[in-house]
Amino acid sequence: MSAEAPPPPAAGPLADARAQLAEAIEHLGVDAGTHRMLATSRREMAVSVPLRRDDGTIATYEGFRVQHNFSRGPAKGGLRFSTAVDLDEVRALAMWMSWKCALVDVPYGGAKGGVAIEPRDHSLAELERVTRRYTSEILPIIGPEVDIPAPDIGTDERTMAWIMDTYSASKGFTVTGVVTGKPISLGGSLGRAMATSRGVAHVALMAMASRGLDPTGASAAVQGFGKVGRGAARLLAEAGVRVQAVSDVDGAVWSEAGLDIARLGDHVDEHGTVVGFDGAEAMDAGGLVTLDVDVLVPAAVEGVITADNAADVRARILVEGANGPTTSAADAILADMDVLIVPDILANAGGVIVSYFEWVQSNQAYRWSEREVNDKLEERMTRSWHDVVDYSGVHGLSYRQAATALAVRRVIEAHELRGLYP
Ligand code: GLU
Repeated sequence: MSAEAPPPPAAGPLADARAQLAEAIEHLGVDAGTHRMLATSRREMAVSVPLRRDDGTIATYEGFRVQHNFSRGPAKGGLRFSTAVDLDEVRALAMWMSWKCALVDVPYGGAKGGVAIEPRDHSLAELERVTRRYTSEILPIIGPEVDIPAPDIGTDERTMAWIMDTYSASKGFTVTGVVTGKPISLGGSLGRAMATSRGVAHVALMAMASRGLDPTGASAAVQGFGKVGRGAARLLAEAGVRVQAVSDVDGAVWSEAGLDIARLGDHVDEHGTVVGFDGAEAMDAGGLVTLDVDVLVPAAVEGVITADNAADVRARILVEGANGPTTSAADAILADMDVLIVPDILANAGGVIVSYFEWVQSNQAYRWSEREVNDKLEERMTRSWHDVVDYSGVHGLSYRQAATALAVRRVIEAHELRGLYP
């Protein structure tokens, strides 16, 4: 096997993740052997997940768990249920988790899981069976000291409860530390549900301040109204920002004066989509990323800002609530346009930060107050923000390049201190 890094796929999240790593490696002056090690996952498991459907037929879905790195601690990362899931996507998301955990200094490596299933096409009972079967397949490689799943697209606290129960049943005792993002009554942390959104809003406000932009009267558009986008929209609106547009998989809504996010939330709870909200005009969801707003928050999926639409982005600040929303080609275009990008591994790290707090609480069987959680979250987000801004200033790098370089350097440092076994 050569020391060279594996050739990246032509396009897609793994190509982007590997291109970012390659840039960091070059900046840090790291050898090709270490580059190869970091470009490849430490452990990958592909499973097939058979499901007995409610009508008695059997469907089979592809599932994955990828552990990218363990140098700084157990692997950590979400589980995604989406038909877009494939091995390369999960590899990229796992690599980003390694950098995210290192950047915000939580003692984890990176992992990600996925099942190629559309959750909206399944009953709750079917989702439970899929989750339990997937969990039993990956059981040998997860655990509170090994790899700790959490929610991601298409999964939630109920999914985590099923994983926790399946894992615990196999051990013969309750192991709450095997997942994070659990229901509060099963050892979930206060503040976890809003943590990613809180972190996104916090760095968005810091980014606005750094550009001399007063939140009161500033405008924003948020792509995605799920676990991340909904809370981020609410917190930005509470800070005085006019959140003019919000989208979800079904469509988008727009209001010049700013959306009433609380009322929009009620509408979504009732109808399952932002579409049809009477306090706004309907708009084409694809046009949201090129709206004339101050701040754009892509908080849905990867690869939405591409070489095709980057030149049309009008926002001055881009805060990546999603993982990998900006392709490498788009990143270069936006840098030339002087758009300030708060990269995903910083912007959406609030989730894994509070996951870490939850894991600590679960392992100690002790509960912190919501205030304590939120204060500690804010402190870590602020520290990480300043680390990135300072490193970017000293080395003349973009925030993404700075964040990745800082994170990769920390992972390499841990690796070198431990040494290579044998
Ligand atoms: N899925 C979230 C992310 O991409 C959270 C991961 C976690 O808490 O482990 O960061």
